[in-house]
Amino acid sequence: MATAKRLFVLQYGAERVSKALSLVGGDPEHYYWEPLFGALVETDAGWVLFDTGMSRANHESAEVERVYRGGEAATEPLDERPWHLRPSPPADRCTWGLPGDPLVAALAPLGLQPGDLSLAVVSHFHWDHSGGIATLAAAGVPVAVHADELAWARSGAPFDAGFDARDWTAPGTQWQTVDAETEVAPGVALLPTPGHTPGHLSCWVTLPGTGSWIFTADATDLAQNLLDDVPCGSCAGGTAADEQQAEESLALLLARTRETDARLIPGHDQVVLNAIRHPPGGHR
Ligand SMILES: [Zn+2]
Repeated sequence: MATAKRLFVLQYGAERVSKALSLVGGDPEHYYWEPLFGALVETDAGWVLFDTGMSRANHESAEVERVYRGGEAATEPLDERPWHLRPSPPADRCTWGLPGDPLVAALAPLGLQPGDLSLAVVSHFHWDHSGGIATLAAAGVPVAVHADELAWARSGAPFDAGFDARDWTAPGTQWQTVDAETEVAPGVALLPTPGHTPGHLSCWVTLPGTGSWIFTADATDLAQNLLDDVPCGSCAGGTAADEQQAEESLALLLARTRETDARLIPGHDQVVLNAIRHPPGGHR
């Protein structure tokens, strides 16, 4: 694969997630604050973004808050555990995002606006990953997604499982679908890793100095998935076949990591994310 130029890691916000959603067999009563983040890659074909965070509307939504609280009243007090890491989100809600439009706010310190991107990729249609699509559509940025993910979402992906139809019906979205491993820009390849959702994608970036990076998105939320070889705890399709796919996707990610000596980055681990925060000028 060709090489990209440099990589930035953008944290848009965080969400309070049960360990049972992140890990098969995880404790449903044990919650982590998990980061919402994207990988921004400069390539010879322009800026490419992998994952877009949650929309401001959904950070503010009482219905979204209700879903995070498992259907409990949105006013129910949270069972707070101490959180030692930065950022430390406010304790009164289950999601937290950068001020204003989190995607715009995350790009701003780099001197970029959404319209400066050549392509955005959405790993899957959970609202904590696809919430920037409306902003990107308005800015004229094409959005890549797996064809199976788009078809499945359009068939009626349920709100109460974390899917917001506004993310796949945003007016004017320029969809760019993939259905196999695809190098979408020099040094940026998409790896189909289904199971968590039917068309889930991971992203493999190759840089000139630091080499191979693999961003797994929700194929593995936490380092623990990778350390213990445990698939994601939630398969939106809900069948045994989906769970089998999640296991196969985990095996593919680990195999590709061995082959390329990749820096393997799980999708929602604040410890890992803090450790890979980019230096001035980005990772190269
Ligand atoms: Zn997800």
